[in-house]
Amino acid sequence: MNNTTDYYQIDDLLTDEHKMIRQTVRDFVDKEIMPLIDDHAHKHTPIPNLMKQLGSIGALGPYIPEEYGGAGMDQIAYGIIMQELERGDSAVRSAASVQSSLVMYPIFTYGSEEQKRKYLPKLASGDMIGCFGLTEPNHGSNPNGMETKFIDADDHVILNGAKFWITNSPLADIAVVWAKDEAGDIRGLVVERGMEGFTTPETHNKWSLRASATGELVFDNVKVPKENVFPNIKGLKGPLSCLNSARYGISWGVLGAAINCYEVALKFSLQREQFGRPIGGFQLQQKKLAEAITEITKAQLLAWRLGVLKNENRATPAQISLAKRNNVHTAITVARELRQVLGGMGIMGEFPFMRHAANLESVITYEGTHDVHLLITGNDITGINAFT
Ligand SMILES: Cc1cc2nc3c(=O)[nH]c(=O)nc-3n(C[C@H](O)[C@H](O)[C@H](O)COP(=O)(O)OP(=O)(O)OC[C@H]3O[C@@H](n4cnc5c(N)ncnc54)[C@H](O)[C@@H]3O)c2cc1C
Repeated sequence: MNNTTDYYQIDDLLTDEHKMIRQTVRDFVDKEIMPLIDDHAHKHTPIPNLMKQLGSIGALGPYIPEEYGGAGMDQIAYGIIMQELERGDSAVRSAASVQSSLVMYPIFTYGSEEQKRKYLPKLASGDMIGCFGLTEPNHGSNPNGMETKFIDADDHVILNGAKFWITNSPLADIAVVWAKDEAGDIRGLVVERGMEGFTTPETHNKWSLRASATGELVFDNVKVPKENVFPNIKGLKGPLSCLNSARYGISWGVLGAAINCYEVALKFSLQREQFGRPIGGFQLQQKKLAEAITEITKAQLLAWRLGVLKNENRATPAQISLAKRNNVHTAITVARELRQVLGGMGIMGEFPFMRHAANLESVITYEGTHDVHLLITGNDITGINAFT
């Protein structure tokens, strides 16, 4: 009998450091997230003090060098952290993804030395919360059409526009915002809470990622000092490179949600009896479980190999896109199918299926929708752009 979720002994490919960080994050999730998450998802409230807790276990910017407050770990360690956090809930992984890949990564990669020293250590410890503003009310899959823009005014710029669907905007101390300059080039800048004309209204009534705060970023003639503009990047490449990093993390993260569902369903199937025997002994239930572990194993190998390529700086955006699409689809399918193994109990909050499945509806849409990722692969293999 092999009831592990490491069916192909991928553990053999991990270092002691990888296994150690996995255990640390797993223990944190079991102790601090699992007991609270159902309640917070029901109440539609984020877990209090989450970012500081994530900082204290080294889950924020793990691949950022230690001199800026990060942990200097590799990309596989980052992926493993995402997996363990999403085993708890996609909202928890989303918080860490945004802080690490969408806020710390661009500041580290495109920021001035002063910007790095000012923001990165506080973001790594969780004393500061960041968010990432790319999507707008009228521009989601096509961010190039963005309308948010700034004009030059002496030692500052004046920013106008609005961003929509922004994870953690209601909680954020800073926002990494992508906006067009007077020449029409996309630039990145750091907007700080408290700047006049900057507000972050919350978006209520989500049926997905309910333990994550989502909101808008509204800029009404906000004066942003020029020293807050990233000096080293122009064009869509800036935000897209952040999304590459986050999408890579998602390809690992969603495995956590799938593994959580698989472990719970397998255990339940061996305990629950109908017609005088465990339901896990019926062929149709075994089919669901067998298909789930097969797809999880394939997705694990994809994530691991992508991590190796990423460590070697060889992962292409199209390879990352394929893994994000495939692994999210795997996870949402596992959550939906294995819920049925529990029968009626599968819809209850004591079990994670409905919460994971509902969360994954956001994950399949954000960071590039499933369909847009199909088009990216289509473009890569044919050389023909089917977007427009
Ligand atoms: C919970 C949540 C959190 C989020 N957090 C953030 C965040 O922190 N920061 C941020 O900037 N954004 C964030 N987003 C926004 C997210 O990235 C967008 O929702 C996503 O990019 C899709 O954009 P849209 O919702 O405007 O859909 P649209 O772009 O309007 O797409 C609608 C549908 O049309 C399809 N479509 C679009 N173009 C094409 C095409 N060329 N060919 C075929 N089909 C097409 C799409 O696949 C989709 O099915 C978040 C979203 C959610 C739901």
